[in-house]
Amino acid sequence: MYDYIVVGAGFAGSVIAERLASQLNKKVLVVDKRNHIGGNAYDFYDENGILIHKYGPHIFHTNSEKVFNYLSNFTEWNYYEHRVLASVDGKLIPMPINRLTVNSIFGLSLSNDEVEDFFSKIKINIDKIENSKDIIVSKIGIELYEKIFKGYTKKQWDLYPEELNPSVCARIPIRFNDDDRYFSDKYQVMPKHGYSKMFESLLSHPNISILLKEDYKKIINDIKFNKLIYTGPIDDFFDLSYGKLPYRSLKFKFENYKKEIYQPVATINYPNSYDFTRVTEFKHLTNQTAESTTIVREYSSSIGDPYYPIPREENDELYSKYKELSLKLKSVHFIGRLATYKYYNMDQVVAQALTLFEKIAKGDF
Ligand code: FAD
Ligand code: UDP
Repeated sequence: MYDYIVVGAGFAGSVIAERLASQLNKKVLVVDKRNHIGGNAYDFYDENGILIHKYGPHIFHTNSEKVFNYLSNFTEWNYYEHRVLASVDGKLIPMPINRLTVNSIFGLSLSNDEVEDFFSKIKINIDKIENSKDIIVSKIGIELYEKIFKGYTKKQWDLYPEELNPSVCARIPIRFNDDDRYFSDKYQVMPKHGYSKMFESLLSHPNISILLKEDYKKIINDIKFNKLIYTGPIDDFFDLSYGKLPYRSLKFKFENYKKEIYQPVATINYPNSYDFTRVTEFKHLTNQTAESTTIVREYSSSIGDPYYPIPREENDELYSKYKELSLKLKSVHFIGRLATYKYYNMDQVVAQALTLFEKIAKGDF
């Protein structure tokens, strides 16, 4: 007899399981259909001894002291600031766009203030920002938008920026100074011994049992439990009763090179050339030293595991219908990127799980 079944051993499932087991002494069964814990943040050593991320590069960053302190109970950290270049017009330019990007693309030598002036001259005034194209051209004009955002977005989503909510391209800041870090958050760190080790620690409480390689639907009727916490795709939970909710998938192509370093920074984005969106070299992220190096190329795809909710109005409307159904179920809670159909980073999922736990602990649920 379990107090809770948690479907999914990713960040959402593992954090809520840990809190329920350690703080409320609940007996928890965590079920995942994959053969490992960690969800999309799972990492492992490949056949060349390089620590790689099976589902694409995962860089931890957060402004939340609460999330950082919580996870620090389960891992030590390496400091790591992610840097990205984009291959544009045959040159490698800093991403996000900053002073150096502008000077490199337009062959100028503007100061910080002059860059701000430059943007104010080329930006397009838009009364109501309705989509991801509006948000970008209203800050930096059409030329940089076309060189950096249009092609990358089409490749990644098979949609143009005007077909996506503003929040998608707004993830990328626009800077006037020389800051070339991909993220601006207060905490930018990587788990010192990898994500999977951190998940092992999160799930190590004796009140937690783990069942892998099992779809919860196949076993749910054979197990006695009180409540369910679900972190998989919300449309699957309801057997697609309102139709399929679109998620974007990716194919990953890993390659090992018998040299120490493959590229100058962790990630290079390819907005306009090749079929892949970006190439990431893991050793930059993990700080590992080794004689060879492994990279991953990401190719987006409409088929495969669901990785990204697709933020656009029609999908939000369909999700709302599923959410309405979910709210009627008093003994099932939905958290995580797939179950709440939100383009969340890892820290946001952790925060969401901690908030659910607080509500359960207070007796609100
Ligand atoms: P998941 O990790 O997807 O876990 C859900 C789990 O549920 C899965 O393991 C799945 O197998 C299981 N499941 C589903 N259905 C069933 C079922 N029927 N029965 C049993 N089990 C089931 N975030 C960052 O903060 N920084 C990054 O750099 C970053 N990079 C990313 C790169 C890529 C390519 C992707 C795809 C995501 C990235 N993210 C990043 C986002 C991050 O992966 C998510 O925020 C986080 O992993 C979501 O955790 P989750 O627990 O909600 O979902
Ligand atoms: N984006 C872009 N060009 C880039 C980087 C990002 O057009 O060089 C857009 C694209 O639509 C992408 C979104 O911004 O999907 C968010 O980028 P991010 O790097 O946050 O994507 P993730 O790491 O979540 O795949």
